[in-house]
Amino acid sequence: ARAWHLKSRPQGMPTPENFEFKEVALPPVGDGQIRVRNSWLSVDPYMRGRMNDVKSYVPPFQIGAPLEGGAVGEVLESKAEGFAPGDLVQHMGGWRDEAVVDARTANKLPNLGAPPEQFLGMLGVTGATAYFGLLDAASAKEGDIVFVSAAAGAVGSAVVQIAKAKGMTVIGSAGGAGKCDFVRSLGADRVVDYREGSILKGLAAAAPDGIDVYFDNVGADHLDAAFAVARNNARFAICGMIANYNDATPASFRFIARIIAARIRLKGFLVFDYMPRFGEFYAEMGPWLANGTVKSRETVVDGLDNTLDAFLGLFSGANTGKMLVRL
Ligand code: NDP
Repeated sequence: ARAWHLKSRPQGMPTPENFEFKEVALPPVGDGQIRVRNSWLSVDPYMRGRMNDVKSYVPPFQIGAPLEGGAVGEVLESKAEGFAPGDLVQHMGGWRDEAVVDARTANKLPNLGAPPEQFLGMLGVTGATAYFGLLDAASAKEGDIVFVSAAAGAVGSAVVQIAKAKGMTVIGSAGGAGKCDFVRSLGADRVVDYREGSILKGLAAAAPDGIDVYFDNVGADHLDAAFAVARNNARFAICGMIANYNDATPASFRFIARIIAARIRLKGFLVFDYMPRFGEFYAEMGPWLANGTVKSRETVVDGLDNTLDAFLGLFSGANTGKMLVRL
């Protein structure tokens, strides 16, 4: 098999020198394991954090070892009960063309009539992050004014559509006119292009009545702008802070004291904590996708060799919707 390995820990923005793409011998398939040929790989911003040698909610990638990540593929060989050659599965042995994985960490794709790659996006962790972050972490409800950053991205584009489906007013921010048009096409009521001027000015103009909910994918200046315009008792779901993933300089917040005056509730969350509740998510998202209430958009990069470029593209906004690699 061929796999991407971490060669050294990146400082700031990763460079190709931090990685090595090489042949690996696959171990024989042991009891309880399956061998999978991958057809789709997911690249995600959180993977940048795993390249640092720090304790976090997932262990760091090891130098010299293959990288890991979400993948969808076909079972070629199985020594695990309930899995047979030909089954389509979702698992964590990504960044490579073939993997031997513990079947307990793999899920057979449910038959919802959706294309398999959607289980790495709208019907997978991405969609669930948007769903539980918005409805549970932020307790967003009908009538709320919701601001979501990175709204043209994978999670953000799901947040916009779920919020509209639930009767909320939505303001989305994204970088560039094309992405802003896309966010508008998803149903957002107002859109802020943060590359056109400061996000603070743009958001203040787009939200003259303030915001009840902020779904944070960016952190830094976007979070500060949300503090500035928050209404009393606003709820913030802190999902990600991509603006700082490659930057060791801490963000500074001019409007942070508004947490007190406006009684803002900040709630960080991890989608994995919601695993036991994924049934609720499928029950709503499945029909929404089938009847067109929610549309899934992907940016597809072809070829395992281009996986690193796809990953790095997340930090320059190369993707609209979910960034995927097709093998
Ligand atoms: P996206 O598809 O949103 O891709 C990242 C996007 O972020 C880019 O397309 C770009 O859009 C934007 N971006 C990158 N750098 C900056 C910057 N400096 N300032 C503003 N925008 C920037 O990725 P995901 O949907 O997969 O993830 C979105 C967020 O959700 C991330 O922060 C991620 O870590 C987090 N996350 C958290 C989870 C959890 O359990 N808490 C689970 C999954 C994701 P643009 O061109 O508009 O700038």
